[in-house]
This record gives sequence, C-alpha cells and structure tokens, in this order.
Amino acid sequence: MGFLRGCLRISGHLTLAGAALGLGVAASRHTDLARVDQTQLALASAPPAARGPARPMPIDATQLLVSAAGGDVAETPEVPLLGLPSVPPAFDGLAETLRDGRIMRGVTPHRLILFTFDDGPDRNTTPLLLDRLDAAGVHAVFFLTGDNLRGENVAERKNQEIARETVRRGHWVASHGMRHRQLPLLSDYEAMLEIGQTEAVFRRVLGARPWLIRPPGGARSTRIDRLLAERGYTTMLWNLGAGDFQVRTAADVHKTWQAVFERRRAQGEEGGIVLLHDTYAWSVDAFQLIVQDLLDRNCELLAKGEELYDFIDDPGMFFEARGSADASAEAAPLRLSPEALEARQAPLREETMQRCQALATRE
Ligand SMILES: [Zn+2]
Repeated sequence: MGFLRGCLRISGHLTLAGAALGLGVAASRHTDLARVDQTQLALASAPPAARGPARPMPIDATQLLVSAAGGDVAETPEVPLLGLPSVPPAFDGLAETLRDGRIMRGVTPHRLILFTFDDGPDRNTTPLLLDRLDAAGVHAVFFLTGDNLRGENVAERKNQEIARETVRRGHWVASHGMRHRQLPLLSDYEAMLEIGQTEAVFRRVLGARPWLIRPPGGARSTRIDRLLAERGYTTMLWNLGAGDFQVRTAADVHKTWQAVFERRRAQGEEGGIVLLHDTYAWSVDAFQLIVQDLLDRNCELLAKGEELYDFIDDPGMFFEARGSADASAEAAPLRLSPEALEARQAPLREETMQRCQALATRE
C-alpha cells in the first residue's frame, strides 16, 4: 500500500472536470504535480487553526511546490502557504450540487458508462483500485459504509485516510449507511439514525455530509424514499450489476456483467451505472476486465462508424432535480442532444483511432 506513504497524486480535475475525455487522455488528467512528504502536505493543506482531519480540498500546485522546497512555514508568514481559500473546493466530491434529485438508475440509450463502488473503503483492496482508476483515467462514485470510517482502531483510521485520498484523486464519495442495514426493515427513527450517524462520520473524516446515497442492497420503500428526500438526498441505484458478491473470480464477475449488459442492451439501455464492490480483490481485477472489454468493443464500433463507449466522470449527467415530484420519482433516461453527444464522441473517436491502430500494427 505504498500510495499513502509515498507521493500523493493530485488529480487535474479542477481544470478538466466535465471535459468529454476518453481513456486515452488519462495521463493528462492525472498529472503528478509534485512529490511531497506527507507532513509537508499536511502543512500546506490545513491552516493551523483548522488543523484536524485533513480536508478533502484540492491543493494549489504552487503551494505544494513552495512547501515541498523545504521552506519553514511558520517563519515565512508572508508566503501564503496556509492561505487556503475559505470557499468550498471547486471539486464537489460530496456532490452537494446533486442534492434533491430524482432517483437515478443509469437508464440511457447512449453508450455512457459510470462506475460505482460500494461497501468500502477497505484498506486491503481500495488503494489498488484507486491506482487502477488513475491508470485508466476513470473517476468513479464510492458509496462508503460509515462503520468502516469510525477511526476506533488502526484499520479504521487507515480507511479514513483512504476515504480522503479517494476525494483527493477526484472521485465522489457518498453514503451507503452506517451498518449496511436494509432501511425498509427499520423504523423511521432507526433508519434516520443510520443516515445521521453516517453523516456525522463523513463530517468528521471528510469535512462535510454526503448528498448522494445508495441504500444498502438497493432496498427502498416509499417511506424510506420520503425520509431520504426530506434530508436532501439523491438516491443513486444502478442498472449494470455484476453479482460480484456471489462469485470469487474476476472472470466470473466479468461474465455476469456481460450477461447483464446484454440483457440491458436488449431493452434499449446501451450504457448506465456499473455496480461493483471495492471490498473484493476479484472486483478490483474485474474493473480492469470490464474497461478492457469496452475498449475492445470501441475498436469494432469505430470501424462500423457507431457511437463509442464513453467512461463518464460525472454522476451529475444522470441527475434531474426532484422539483415538485414525489420522493420516489425517477430521473428520466439520460439523452444527449446530437451536439452534446458529438462534443464527447469526437475526441473519443480520435483517441480510439490511435489506440486501435497501434494495437493493429502490434498484432
Ligand atoms: Zn452494499
């Protein structure tokens, strides 16, 4: 687990968030801005008065570089090393902008793919997944289980750091409840205790409450939908499960995912929200297989002149404000205008052409 001790990669999401980029430009989105010692980073990232849990705030590269150069922060007050802006970070890792939305399932006729991971963080498996997401240039949504983040022992404290690292790398973090209990089986009071305790843990570890939630097991009821809506939550479900909790190998997860995928496609759903669990080693491997599968398909689709699979970076693409609709209302299928679709597809075609040609010449 070298990533916590070693250098910290600062994602370039500030400048490139929302850009319609495919996997091939991954390198440009995850630039190693600076290699810094953890202590120096802590100094650079938190004003002394607010020092406590590290804040999931994107850090200005110049601040890092000055700090990494070895300047003694306490003796150079004129250098704005500690002058982090008091405004919220530009990157909305806790998805406050997605509050009060209709229930999202990921239904779309487009080949848009969003990865989501439940039940973490897990110190044994999540760090490797974060590295693989970086390598693939993919940003995901992590639905964290509050119990993993209490910080009462070494393992939980490590999980806390992984949660912060997840946000630093430009991923979204969201609620998966406290103890993974099926909310419809609980009383109103118990259900809200699950939700409220998770919020408290998020505040302590990440500095703010989450606004997206995935109820454990996807279990819902109109009562639970209403309770969650009253607290401003937007529920995100999925349409591309992979049954990774039922098998033990990445190949089996991939096979199940393919079967589900084909079933959805037969229903007109060409893309959507993938559900995996970052708590299983085989799921971390299966992520690679699924990404490779879609990249391979893109070579064929490009040759046929069809829409390409597009790994989206933004759960907000599926978002629809709830407005006056009831708490169980679902978001409409995600349809892009021809212009918006082309704006995403054009650079993707370019990148896919280069990648697939390189593959072909190697063979
Ligand atoms: Zn779960």
